[in-house]
Amino acid sequence: MTQVYNFAAGPAVLPAEVLRQVQSELISYKNSGMSIMEISHRSSLYTDMAFQAEADLRKLMNIPAEYDVLFLQGGATLQFALAPLNLANKYHKIAFADTGHWAQRAQEDGQLLSGYTTEVAASSKLSNYTELPSGIELAKNYDYLHLTMNNTIEGTMYKDLPYKGDVPVVGDLSSIILGQEYNVNDFGMIYAGAQKNIGPAGLTIVIVKHTLFEEAPELPAMFSYAKQAAKHSALNTPPVFAIYVAGLVFKWLLQQGGVSQMQRRNEEKAQLLYDYLDSSKLFSTPVTEKKWRSLTNIPFVTGDKAIDKRFIVQAQANNLLNLKGHRLVGGMRASLYNAFPRTGVEKLIEFMQKFEKAVG
Ligand code: PMP
Repeated sequence: MTQVYNFAAGPAVLPAEVLRQVQSELISYKNSGMSIMEISHRSSLYTDMAFQAEADLRKLMNIPAEYDVLFLQGGATLQFALAPLNLANKYHKIAFADTGHWAQRAQEDGQLLSGYTTEVAASSKLSNYTELPSGIELAKNYDYLHLTMNNTIEGTMYKDLPYKGDVPVVGDLSSIILGQEYNVNDFGMIYAGAQKNIGPAGLTIVIVKHTLFEEAPELPAMFSYAKQAAKHSALNTPPVFAIYVAGLVFKWLLQQGGVSQMQRRNEEKAQLLYDYLDSSKLFSTPVTEKKWRSLTNIPFVTGDKAIDKRFIVQAQANNLLNLKGHRLVGGMRASLYNAFPRTGVEKLIEFMQKFEKAVG
């Protein structure tokens, strides 16, 4: 099999060990004679597996007991609507940090819900989202502040919370969850689509402080964190296969030394590429301020769209796949999630050096 390096932003590369394990137990899960996709979600084969996945995630992120861990569907995007419905009960008012595309999508969906108000508390629009707003101040009459902790398209990230007040923080960690250490206690809720740093699409992780949704009005079952929590995320058929693969990834992460070890490796990988970008005469990253640079999504450009295009085509031919930047910003983007190997970054830099020489 050809060795390729998959720089996709999501769905993204998974650990090879995990894929091999999936392969080895696909036909008969735990000698049941059935695959994990064919078993009942009411069977102990499923409940044991889901219970273990939650326990491992709790261990990896050091999640306190007063937080529920939910395994949901609908992607991170569904949480743009469910977080307001479940958490914005007192003031029906949500503050947003406008840090780019996904933060804006989250605000738009919140605003569409009747009876809720959304406000921009801070924005980095003026820097074209190459920086992030910090030192955010808020009045107390907001139910929560929404922060996109890692901006997948723009390549910026918060390593620390930019807000220290009493309003709970809801963090979209879709493209950084388990890749950088965060203190769960700093958040009222964390959510993330699985398909970047965790597993297959179809699973969304929600980590939410129980007291924050106790006052919510009764909601339809699939909208309700309270009902999902009461049924351990199995009030209807859960995405069994996605949860199973996520569980294997959690085990793999524990074996690798957990999130601190992942963060260390991610810092090393990112540093290699940023150092090269900073020294290159051809390539550069739009995120010039080091403190805002993402560990997992690194955008870069040559400044000439035709050369960018040529680079992407030639990289592809050299098994460096999915380097095309998001259609909104163009250029290139290298996503270096937990499962992305350091050798892939080294190969990319080698190729960029060669390309730079050839362009002259
Ligand atoms: N938030 C962020 C930060 C993202 O990167 C993405 C997906 N690229 C989303 C939300 C939307 O995720 P999903 O496709 O799981 O709805």
